[in-house]
Amino acid sequence: MITGPIKNLIREFRKLPGVGEKTAMRLAMHVLGAPRQNAKALADALIEVKEKIRPCSACFSMTEGDICEICASPRRNRALICVVEDQAGLMSVENSGTFFGLYHVLWGRLSPIDGIGPEDIKVGELVKRVAAGGVEEVILATNPSVDGEATALYIKKALSPQGVRVTRIARGIPVGGDLEYADALTLGRALEGRSPY
Ligand SMILES: [Zn+2]
Repeated sequence: MITGPIKNLIREFRKLPGVGEKTAMRLAMHVLGAPRQNAKALADALIEVKEKIRPCSACFSMTEGDICEICASPRRNRALICVVEDQAGLMSVENSGTFFGLYHVLWGRLSPIDGIGPEDIKVGELVKRVAAGGVEEVILATNPSVDGEATALYIKKALSPQGVRVTRIARGIPVGGDLEYADALTLGRALEGRSPY
């Protein structure tokens, strides 16, 4: 019978993505057997990331300052905005090495089943950003899942009064797949092969 602090630890590990009961148990047992300083380093790293890292005030990607490195860089094309669902999506596009514009991180996707509506993700902020001017193209790089497609369609409609060019990354990514798991070459091609949406 597992109770008290160990049970709490297992419960917290279970909240992590991709961690089931068995893995949570194994991680908890690992922490129990590890030196105290290792556990403290892990706890400190968790707290530090929450205290120091916050969303960029322009694109909402996670950063240490007010503006992220990408938004601050003079080498990025400010007329291009690539819309991704989360930080993992941003990293995938960035790692493809084929995109030199700016990003907009939605922090989620529309999902009526889960009760996630437009006000729960950073869509309004994107519309405002485009309305502020200077943006020529918005590339929709939400995941090729049902929710990702619905989100892309919603954004296209929300942006249509502004007359900005809206494109969607090509179908190189398997349907139902996740940007995070697409290899850099496939994603690079999907970006280059984007078409009007
Ligand atoms: Zn930024």
